[in-house]
Amino acid sequence: MSTPNDETDRDSPSDFVRDKVVADTAAGKYHGRVQTRFPPEPNGFLHIGHAKSIALNFGIAEEFGGECHLRFDDTNPETEDQSYIDGIQEDLAWLGFSPSGETKFASDYFGQLYEWAEQLIAKGLAYVDDQDAETISEQRGGFGQPGVESPYRERSSDENFDLFRRMKAGEFEDGSRVLRAKIDMQADNMQLRDPVLYRIRHAHHYRTLDEWNIYPTYDWAHGQSDAIEGTTHSLCTLEFADHRGLYDWFLANIDDLPYEAPEQTEFARLNLTHTVMSKRVFRRLVDDGHVDGWDDPRMPTLRGLRRRGYPPAAIRAFVEHIGVAKTNSVHDIELLESFIRTELNEHATRRMAVLRPLQVTITNWPTDAGGQPEVVMVEVANHPKDESAGTRMVPFSGELWIEQDDFKLEPPPKYFRLSPGREVRLRAGFLVTAVDADVDADGHPTLVRCTYDPASAGGSAPDGRKVKATMHWVSAAHAVDATVHLYDRLFTDPHPGSDGAEVFDSLNPSSRETVAAKLEPALAEANPGEVYQFERLGYFATDPGDTSVFHRTVGLRDEWANIQKRRQ
Ligand code: ATP
Ligand code: MG
Repeated sequence: MSTPNDETDRDSPSDFVRDKVVADTAAGKYHGRVQTRFPPEPNGFLHIGHAKSIALNFGIAEEFGGECHLRFDDTNPETEDQSYIDGIQEDLAWLGFSPSGETKFASDYFGQLYEWAEQLIAKGLAYVDDQDAETISEQRGGFGQPGVESPYRERSSDENFDLFRRMKAGEFEDGSRVLRAKIDMQADNMQLRDPVLYRIRHAHHYRTLDEWNIYPTYDWAHGQSDAIEGTTHSLCTLEFADHRGLYDWFLANIDDLPYEAPEQTEFARLNLTHTVMSKRVFRRLVDDGHVDGWDDPRMPTLRGLRRRGYPPAAIRAFVEHIGVAKTNSVHDIELLESFIRTELNEHATRRMAVLRPLQVTITNWPTDAGGQPEVVMVEVANHPKDESAGTRMVPFSGELWIEQDDFKLEPPPKYFRLSPGREVRLRAGFLVTAVDADVDADGHPTLVRCTYDPASAGGSAPDGRKVKATMHWVSAAHAVDATVHLYDRLFTDPHPGSDGAEVFDSLNPSSRETVAAKLEPALAEANPGEVYQFERLGYFATDPGDTSVFHRTVGLRDEWANIQKRRQ
């Protein structure tokens, strides 16, 4: 799998954005310079959709020998916070990308943005509007519906300067005035109908503190921030296509841009089935207690996926695979999971664990001089295809745990696992044959009695007789207790909120099942955050903060392969 810095794997993807960069550089645009940026707003943590934007921006910079900056577009004092800044930087590093140069902040440009706003006022291209937000919004009209010019539109520039400076000085109440660009109230592109550049907010900003009483809108800040930094290719998602005309108008009307104006290109957002990619929804999931936090392993946030055990290399491979397109689409979450599985299959250490334990007693198992069951250490490979992963010794004895599913008193057709009279292999251990079982009041087995073949050490019969099933097991006396969380989709609807449905209506009430599992002793030394394959069960990550807690990363079955087969 390729990594961003892997020198040997440079068959870089090709797409319309890269084609444009190739054409621009060939034409000598920006003197061949390529500079991109990833511009998150620090009002939440990153999600896997951001990974697509990150891979694109950093990927292009790397492929074209350019730079990619990290800039926080922090223009909303009410919703932003330093904890998001720190978290986003952490997530970016985990994903495997490092920004060029210092981290940038739109808030560092508030002074420059203010000067440029005055420049527009001086040119008669901006005015202070005393109307409230609702009135301004009503007057915008709509597509094919005329806009209405504000009664304050023709204010003199002296009056505009005076009012704007007093807005800045904090003389007026929140919401009582705004600064608007004076463009065209009849423009077909709604964005050009005198958009708001500054709002009055007597709010504390996590970085500029109480310095400002007015804050630029995202629209006024975004394109100019790109220009201040020398961005050449300003890549953003499709919903900003309409804004391009506005950003170009701003850049064209500012006299002293330090660099040539950047050019915006839009690409499709990443969407996944059974997933909502919106910080607003995440915040509600967290605030309403549907999940434990932004890093809950059911969340599509990078910190959630990290805790779930998703390897960053697999996320990078996935976003590279789906590529960059101009139309929005929704990818199957099973495709992402198949990338995770492929990566883990290659690298995850194998271990045995029993999730729903059923007790097994081997009636003919030998006891030692003290009357205790003997313990035999059996050698088990750590990875079936990678000898360098080595082996480990696992204790086997006369009292074991097996999976409840792996025993049936009355086996249905084609059930080849353990049942009375049936012989199976306990992996790397011995062949055992079930004799009978104790059951509870509901008829569920509580203990299975077996005999074993002492000549089958290592799990093979000396006479070469065949058994149809190989099962995992854990020695009861040596088992390590663990809490294992099994996850299902957070939203049952493949397209939550589609067709006018309410997103939260399809919240899956059983998205997490927690079981008390029995693990082989080697897992007592599991590394925090490491992912193991529990044989026959799937991939499981230890919680970074508590290695007796495991999160199921993905199951073993490749659902994506099945989906593809069905579609053929
Ligand atoms: P949200 O709607 O969840 O608040 P956002 O788009 O407002 O997300 P930003 O922090 O503004 O989040 O996004 C930073 C960058 O990531 C932007 O350039 C944005 O276009 C891009 N981005 C956000 N979501 C996706 C996505 N699903 N797929 C690809 N790029 C995305
Ligand atoms: Mg945004």
